[in-house]
Amino acid sequence: MSIPFIDLKSQFARLEPEIRRRMDAVLAHGQYIMGPEIRELEEKLAAFAGTRFCLSCSSGTDALLLPLMALGVGPGDAVLTSAYSFYATAEVIALLGATPVFVDIDPATYNMDPAALERAVHALLQNDPALHPLPKGYESLTPRAVIPVDLFGLPADYAAIEAVASAHGLPIIEDAAQGFGGAVNGKRAGSFGLCAATSFFPAKPLGCYGDGGAIFTDDEALHEKLISLRVHGQGSDKYENVAVGLNARLDTLQAAILLPKLEIFPEELELRQVAAARYTERLSGLVETPVIPDGYFSAYAQYTVRTDRREQLMSGLSASGVPTMVYYRIPLHQQPVFAHLGYREGDMPHSEKASREVVSLPMHPWLTEADAETIGNAVRAVLW
Ligand SMILES: *Cc1c(COP(=O)(O)O)cnc(C)c1O
Repeated sequence: MSIPFIDLKSQFARLEPEIRRRMDAVLAHGQYIMGPEIRELEEKLAAFAGTRFCLSCSSGTDALLLPLMALGVGPGDAVLTSAYSFYATAEVIALLGATPVFVDIDPATYNMDPAALERAVHALLQNDPALHPLPKGYESLTPRAVIPVDLFGLPADYAAIEAVASAHGLPIIEDAAQGFGGAVNGKRAGSFGLCAATSFFPAKPLGCYGDGGAIFTDDEALHEKLISLRVHGQGSDKYENVAVGLNARLDTLQAAILLPKLEIFPEELELRQVAAARYTERLSGLVETPVIPDGYFSAYAQYTVRTDRREQLMSGLSASGVPTMVYYRIPLHQQPVFAHLGYREGDMPHSEKASREVVSLPMHPWLTEADAETIGNAVRAVLW
């Protein structure tokens, strides 16, 4: 029997009656757009994250884009973000005509290095790329915001990042697309910075059965702006428009699917810890296992290890029926789409090294001890 990389079937088997009941209720009331399940979900998500407000939306990408729009980010603006993330994190910056300024990662956590962020902000303010690599056109850029990423489920170092950002008046948008469910000293991912974005793409720790996302904030004025931007920049009335926005609502059906999933999410997060511990016990010494700093709780969106024999490991595991994935083979500053920014190899050495060495193993709450044993043995057979 082959091991799935992510097991959505076991979860569905567990929740099927409840998911079908909630979906049937939507089919019965017929409010497919902004039905009552949307508000119910937003309230429960805000309570879970520990924020005053939550706004559901159409994807994690739109959950990043909408706050940038609300802040008025555009041409001439620099948004500092991690060089090591899914493309959408930087794409939304470029989509608005602003320029992503990439910051290297801490090689232990794969998250934005706060000291590098500080150097990057100073380099921008002093027009001095000797302090930190900057994109072409840096002379005319104004730093406007920071987007740290909770990569693989581990929250970024918000205490240190916030110290840098607040010293320069820069709002933080937390990219919690992978981190939702994680925490730092009990403060949950989704509650850091001015606001946070998450994704309900099916493979994320909390996923729906299509695309979906949410934005969390304590800032009422920002929340009000986001409500408007989510639906075509609407004003006091549906047909009065006060801004250029998007059509970025979450479907009522997806909210209906998420509600029962959110109920068991805390339990699933604990099961992910168990799965990760089973891996770490078997893999320590063979590969570099995930580093979870003191006080941090990872949502384990991925269980990612590193080894300088990655390709050998991947083909060996594949031959044993164990699927693996590489997130990500190309750091953002080396993506072809950003070639015009003029970044060079060596600009973000930790991101570049990670892109050559990381590999993610199957990870989901329903991974059994037997699965971990099979995978552990397969890794040992290749690397021992
Ligand atoms: C998945 C992901 C996104 C985008 O979410 P979508 O719902 O797929 O649009 C953004 N950032 C990170 C880090 C992600 O992993």
